[in-house]
Amino acid sequence: MASLPKLNEKYSMFSCITDDLETKGFRFLFSAKDNLTSKDMETRCGSRILEGYRPVFDATAIDRMRKAGGKLIGKNSMDEFGFGTFSTNSAFGVPKNPFDPERSCGGSSGGSACAAALIDGHISLGVSTGGSICCPASFCGVYGIAPTYGRVSRYGLIDYGNSLDKIGLISSDPNKLTEFLPVISGKDPKDPTSCAQPEPGPKGRKIRSAAVPKEALESISKDVRSSFESSLETLKSMGVDVKLTEMPFLKYAMPAYYVLASSEASTNLARYVGMRYGRQDGDLTLKFDDYFASFRSEYFGDEAKRRILLGTYARMAGFRDRYYAKALKVRLHVISSYKKVFAGCDAVLTPTMPFAAPRFDEISKMAPVESYSADYLTVPPNLAGMPQLSVPCGYDGGGMPIGMQLVTDHWAEDPLLTFAADWESVFETRRPEVSP
Ligand code: GLN
Repeated sequence: MASLPKLNEKYSMFSCITDDLETKGFRFLFSAKDNLTSKDMETRCGSRILEGYRPVFDATAIDRMRKAGGKLIGKNSMDEFGFGTFSTNSAFGVPKNPFDPERSCGGSSGGSACAAALIDGHISLGVSTGGSICCPASFCGVYGIAPTYGRVSRYGLIDYGNSLDKIGLISSDPNKLTEFLPVISGKDPKDPTSCAQPEPGPKGRKIRSAAVPKEALESISKDVRSSFESSLETLKSMGVDVKLTEMPFLKYAMPAYYVLASSEASTNLARYVGMRYGRQDGDLTLKFDDYFASFRSEYFGDEAKRRILLGTYARMAGFRDRYYAKALKVRLHVISSYKKVFAGCDAVLTPTMPFAAPRFDEISKMAPVESYSADYLTVPPNLAGMPQLSVPCGYDGGGMPIGMQLVTDHWAEDPLLTFAADWESVFETRRPEVSP
């Protein structure tokens, strides 16, 4: 444990680490994405606007982990308010990929996946609005699950998109997902959207058939294709019936998601005006609207500003029907496309990301739409509120991990958890070589 701060200097997986690294008396250690409130540590959501914010309460997911004997050792670096695919929009250190520090950990739960890959037996809480658990799990070569929307209470989560946000788990050990998903799951009177479904856990339900939508394979890299294809062979040898299918509607999920997520985000961010939460040190001699504008201009990052503009525009009278209302209709079609497949099949199977973790110099040259497009496989299940799991399934020529994503119907986490454990016994996972 003594080397944790040193490790963090190199990899920046924590935006904040506890001063008290005493582990005696605790059953396990965990970390949490920095958009989950915690009593004993600052919660800043990767944003300068929340600097100094010390919540007076724990998020339910953190509270339940502590009650199960866990010690929260740090808050994980993340893209500002969850806006991003590479964690490069983090104001407090950009997490570096454990397999190659010149590359991204993915986003927006990049720090959570980085900690899961670097620390033995570690479990971290992540949050997925549009794929932000599966993406970093895939880039960092670990297991990540974002359960059904409503499975885990969102109380204490600093909202990005309330109708989309799902809290989940990341670890290098799939058994930890099985162990801890029931811990954080369940009805919470403090979150009316949390549900009282029976606890998830392996009850013998297996994935016996999986459908691969052919559209998913159109824009993937050569390395991803070859790892994915050899994984299909492994799946067949495990007795999974794999078939090709068509889900033409999936391509509309990504644009609809960015309209809906930005719309919700733009209202959620309206509360950060320098009067409550975090920084409140603007120039008080200004008129109130100038005060708000100067404060928000100074402390929100570029991507947050872009989402505010996009979301406000999509919700404006005159444009609302064309964008926001239409995106809601697309969402229903995406849900029914999945339901149709699930009528004859247990899971939808795709690569998680279309490429392995890119280098930071490559990311800096990407236009915003290019990086949004990278989410085209991880966004659809999130838009549909369905559970999604990413498992490592290969390595490219440079040794960077590649991930495979399985999506099941609402509330069908059990077969995903069983699959993760079965997969670990047939797939040879590599751990990063770490030199602090
Ligand atoms: N990349 C997506 C976005 O920027 C996903 C983010 C997320 O799931 N938090 O919106």
